[in-house]
Amino acid sequence: MEQIEAGDAQTLVNILNQEQSKDPNFFFRVKFGKDGRISNIFWRDSMMLEDYRIYGDVLVFDTTYRTNRYNLICAPFVGMNNHWHNCMFACAFIGDDKTDSFVWLLETFLKVMENKKPTSIFTDQDQAMANAIEQVLPNTRHRLCIWHLEQNAITIFGALKKDKEFKYAFNQCLNMCVKEQEFEAKWQAMTQRYELTAHSWYQRVCDLKEKWCPSLSRDFFSAGILSSQRSESTNHAIGFRASKATTLTEFYTIFKKTINRWRSAEKYDEFTCSKSIAFTSLPLSGMLKHAAQVFTLSLFRDFEEEFGYSMATTVQMIGRNEECLLYQVALEDKPWSAHQVNYIHESHNVWCTCKNFEASGWLCYHYIRILHLHSVTRIPDKYVSKRWTKIAKTETWDRLKNQDPTHQYIPWRQTMIRKYYNLILKSQENEETR
Ligand SMILES: [Zn+2]
Repeated sequence: MEQIEAGDAQTLVNILNQEQSKDPNFFFRVKFGKDGRISNIFWRDSMMLEDYRIYGDVLVFDTTYRTNRYNLICAPFVGMNNHWHNCMFACAFIGDDKTDSFVWLLETFLKVMENKKPTSIFTDQDQAMANAIEQVLPNTRHRLCIWHLEQNAITIFGALKKDKEFKYAFNQCLNMCVKEQEFEAKWQAMTQRYELTAHSWYQRVCDLKEKWCPSLSRDFFSAGILSSQRSESTNHAIGFRASKATTLTEFYTIFKKTINRWRSAEKYDEFTCSKSIAFTSLPLSGMLKHAAQVFTLSLFRDFEEEFGYSMATTVQMIGRNEECLLYQVALEDKPWSAHQVNYIHESHNVWCTCKNFEASGWLCYHYIRILHLHSVTRIPDKYVSKRWTKIAKTETWDRLKNQDPTHQYIPWRQTMIRKYYNLILKSQENEETR
């Protein structure tokens, strides 16, 4: 931190000040160290707050970026919008990776985000971070990014790096287990075969399995980030084009360009979704038609996949009472796919032991099959998660369009307030001037 060029930090603060005069809801905070130098900087603009209101259920907080001249930790707060693309909630620079710094950062974040807490937070494996999350977000589910685990496993095991079978086995453990027993069996087989049972890193990772294993994390919403088909696309897609020589001011320019790129991609996605109908090789009717009407194009793909699987399942009724029916649904020859679906006829309420809806926000093929069985042709309202629909952000767009016209005076007001505040400061010492 001592190496930060004073001019560079000041220039960034000046830029943030200018941003604030243009955007009434722009927020930034600077924390000074004991020596009077800047130690942490945090900022977010008004659209980031809007996005967090809608997509703030899942937060990816990645602090592994060190690409700047001062080796400061860059900490972007990233989310996932209804088109399965990244959106930015806030960004910060911090001087060290101690618990106190993370606590400051998370507390600042909550304070300017209307105290809304995410359901799940994804981070890399770091004890200081885990402590901070426990302290500031005790009810949020902390999970580890599988991408980082994979990277760490590869760095730690140089010799296994080129072993395709090991990589496959590791990947099976990370991504492909739906049930706990299945994970335990695969993990044990892998660690025995490659003689890793006594290795401390693997032991530690296994101890932390509650924080990353998809089969143990299905009771909290994670926007499906943990699901195998999505983990690839969400890995490290931020791609700030910064380097070890980048100054803070340069970084801010790169940051703005990234955000502008993301936002124009979002506008394009919104436009495409509003104008086109999803293509599918299946007949577009019934529940699939309804899904095409309400979900964005990318979410429709997820629903369509489940829909396709549902047609290949076998169903067995295993119990019933007055109001509810209990089924077992499975794919043929795949015993691991068997799950129990509890179905209440009157309300279409359902509970499936795979917990796909709770974890990802769209229905599993088990439940879709049961709906078919009961001739239901529309997805019940409570199973259409608004955050995945085409209209997730419509209210925000409308509101911004009709925004209060007095907003145009905000830059003027900001300038005048600063000017007259200085005058007040100058005159306060003297009774006459006061
Ligand atoms: Zn299910």
